Amino acid sequence: MVSRNPHMAKLKAGYLFPEINKRKRAFLEKNPDAKLISLGIGDTTQPLEKHIAYSLTQAAFGLGTPEGYSGYGPEQGQPVLRERIAEKLYRNRIHSDDIFISDGSKCDIGRLQLLFGSEVSIAVQDPVYPVYVDTSIMMGQQEIIYMNCSPENNFFPDLSKLPRTDLIYFCSPNNPTGATANRAQLEQLVSFAKENKSILIFDAAYSMYIQDPTIPKTIYEIPGADEIAIELGSFSKMAGFTGVRLGWTVVPAKLEFEDGSLVKRDWDRIVSTCFNGASNISQIGGIGALDELGMAEMQNMVSGYLWNARKLRDLFVELGYPVVGGDNAPYVWVNFGEPSWDVFESLLCGAQVVATPGSGFGGAGEGFMRFSAFNSAKNTEEAVVRLRKHLTATKEVARV
Ligand code: PLP
Repeated sequence: MVSRNPHMAKLKAGYLFPEINKRKRAFLEKNPDAKLISLGIGDTTQPLEKHIAYSLTQAAFGLGTPEGYSGYGPEQGQPVLRERIAEKLYRNRIHSDDIFISDGSKCDIGRLQLLFGSEVSIAVQDPVYPVYVDTSIMMGQQEIIYMNCSPENNFFPDLSKLPRTDLIYFCSPNNPTGATANRAQLEQLVSFAKENKSILIFDAAYSMYIQDPTIPKTIYEIPGADEIAIELGSFSKMAGFTGVRLGWTVVPAKLEFEDGSLVKRDWDRIVSTCFNGASNISQIGGIGALDELGMAEMQNMVSGYLWNARKLRDLFVELGYPVVGGDNAPYVWVNFGEPSWDVFESLLCGAQVVATPGSGFGGAGEGFMRFSAFNSAKNTEEAVVRLRKHLTATKEVARV
């Protein structure tokens, strides 16, 4: 018999979304006519924009012709796509050679574990996108520091109280809270990583949602970040590519390990060894998304989801709940001040709306709910009407 990888046994059961689905099913069995609206998931729902979809079909069509056929491409990605990302998303702050195209950020977070191995210590935000922690545990990493992000610290960790770790994962705009770090905070984060000789892994999957021009869209807007930071990027939430699969990771040439060797060289070795490059169809889709028409289409898609986010945010503000996110992010994080699963049940039974319990993202999420803007405008408007009615009635009852 083969012994089980002991690190797999250390993972907490994937509890959050299965539990949500279990409760949804139980509710629907009792109420088969109920029309649930899901504001629970982080997946995109609206169709691809026309020009971007056309780029993908042209790529697929081209593969069926002698001139358009291509097999394995460079493992680091098609040069045109790398150049376009550098130009359009980084204003050439980053050299295209430092951009490695992938099949999405989640996959790259997994591969980052190979880069750093089992001996590194890490810090993550709490609440947190669970993939950083789970993949680190799978690799056998043992030292995980949780950086509390709550209303008390304006959802930015108190760095003066944090011990040094080798890696610091930081996600802004944040999933699940929707909070964004401002320039001064990111400067602090970069200095903190520099002083501690740590590597910052900055997850910018939602950067396209930033509307406030004063908020940096990439960590490389902060001077010196290219000496300490890796950045994760994704087409998933900006172009609706959650199923198409396309992302990238920036590993700047200046980033070094303790022994002076280049981090980039090892990353290149990893992507060449256990990843054969992103699909050529999705890469051509990405090139289309980054031309003039494609950029306008992505802005349009993002604006649509942000419209939903604003509707949700405005509702909770109107009802007097403390709220963060929804302005520069597709998530609205609402403080109900009651156990998250109780609120989940109340919203499910009382409004037939599904939201995600904040406690599922870490201890600091208890009492909160995450509302996702990834639905149609029509469903979101309907959810807002139902939530207003239900929550107003609940408040009336509480007052009596
Ligand atoms: N990073 C964050 C913070 C996310 O929320 C997600 C997806 O929800 C990802 C990364 C993964 O994105 P991808 O679809 O590129 O794997």
